[in-house]
Amino acid sequence: MAQLTILEFPDPRLRTRAAPVQVFDAPLGRLIDDMLETMYAAPGIGLAATQVNVHLRLIVVDVSETRSEPQVFINPQILASEGVEQSEEGCLSVPQIFEPIERAACVRVRAQDRHGVWFERDLDGLLAVCVQHEMDHLEGKLFVDYLSSLKRERIRRRLEKERRERGAAPRVRPAAAARSATGAKVI
Ligand code: ZN
Repeated sequence: MAQLTILEFPDPRLRTRAAPVQVFDAPLGRLIDDMLETMYAAPGIGLAATQVNVHLRLIVVDVSETRSEPQVFINPQILASEGVEQSEEGCLSVPQIFEPIERAACVRVRAQDRHGVWFERDLDGLLAVCVQHEMDHLEGKLFVDYLSSLKRERIRRRLEKERRERGAAPRVRPAAAARSATGAKVI
């Protein structure tokens, strides 16, 4: 297994619309395992293939406290959604930024597993938020797109300044950065 590099806002590759997964083979299995390793190491509770510069409709999530319940959604579709809920979101591709975002409270999702078998599930709570956030990535959409353009521009400048100061050094991701002050998780 290998850790993959996570693209960061405003990298234009994050704006790519992902293509459907059509072949369920060993390389796809390896990609899923590498994405899970990358997500756990980051640490985050979800990761879309788009974020590691693979433009396929594939997301991995684990919202368990024990970090032991990995879930894979391939070619996911939302069949129905209900209610509205606001929660604070962060994103591995927009480090250290946390903002309240409104999403559907419950969603019915149809997707394929790593073997290509279709399944349907009703999701709510953090898992519903996480899957909707990751599915946005597959459309080239980021959670900062829900904010005002003024706010998004301020975030872009802040991240670019931080990257300049960091130079070529790799990002240090302290464990504390996995959550905001209010306990929001990085998706
Ligand atoms: Zn994200």
